[in-house]
Amino acid sequence: MENKVLIFGHKSPDTDSVTSAIVMENLERKLGNENVKAVRTGEINKETKYVLNFLGLEEPELVETVEDGQEVILVDHNEATQSIGNIENAKVLKVVDHHSMNFIAPYQIYYRAEPVGCTQTVLYKMYKENDVEIDKNIATLMLSAIASDTLVLKSPTTTEADKKAVQELEKISGLDISTFGVDMLKAGTDISDFTPEQVINIDSKLFEQSNKRFRIAQVNTADLDSIFKNQAYFEQAINEDIEKENLDFYVFAATDIINSNSKIISLGNDAPVVEKAFGIPVDNHTAMLENVVSRKKQMLPPILNALNGDVNL
Ligand code: MN
Ligand code: MN
Repeated sequence: MENKVLIFGHKSPDTDSVTSAIVMENLERKLGNENVKAVRTGEINKETKYVLNFLGLEEPELVETVEDGQEVILVDHNEATQSIGNIENAKVLKVVDHHSMNFIAPYQIYYRAEPVGCTQTVLYKMYKENDVEIDKNIATLMLSAIASDTLVLKSPTTTEADKKAVQELEKISGLDISTFGVDMLKAGTDISDFTPEQVINIDSKLFEQSNKRFRIAQVNTADLDSIFKNQAYFEQAINEDIEKENLDFYVFAATDIINSNSKIISLGNDAPVVEKAFGIPVDNHTAMLENVVSRKKQMLPPILNALNGDVNL
């Protein structure tokens, strides 16, 4: 396996990270590069399982560290903190992404990132540019990831490019994003058999900025109350993580996919940064962020602004 170029998304992989690796492998092969292999960097979540089961696809192999000099392609991320443990030992050949750039390589690299709602929208364009046919399975994977990242085109991260891709992908896949996408999202909200620790790690990202280390974790739900009735257990799991990982603060966001709001729990020594970031009081470690659903566009930027404004916080 070490001889193959490994393609993978971020840790705590979401539907975009898993399916973009599979689709990128397909595109590389179609373009004549057989020496590639899509892998995953963590447990597959229930939403992604729903998609893979629907298509009868196997889960990609799990890879947590790589050999020195391993050639890799990153999809749906570029920050080392979100990649495999020893990414600095790898040789990154390509990045295909839609996040803000935090990548520096002392060598030449193919770097493609666009300000669109989903990595799969970038991949869709790459298929078009290279005149590669998008088959039904690939279209379903692309459609699923766009539905996931944009909450069925309702998130403010949604762009015209995403909508345009969806139009064609619906035709090829024979699926309607508003039914298939909602079924998929709902499959992902089932946390009935999860421990609080598992829930906070479904989709958790580590950030480092202004000498602060913090996590923003996000979980989709159709019922905020079902989560917050267990607030004390979540706080315990979060506080353990803060201690274990030496974090300055932690934001856990439960995002209501029906009403497009997020209710957060914020903990840690620097948790007050959240009040500054969003301009709202945090009461009992919680706050309701109205019309906020996107970590990338609506949670992270105000927190970074608040941190930059006061590094001594
Ligand atoms: Mn992602
Ligand atoms: Mn994504």
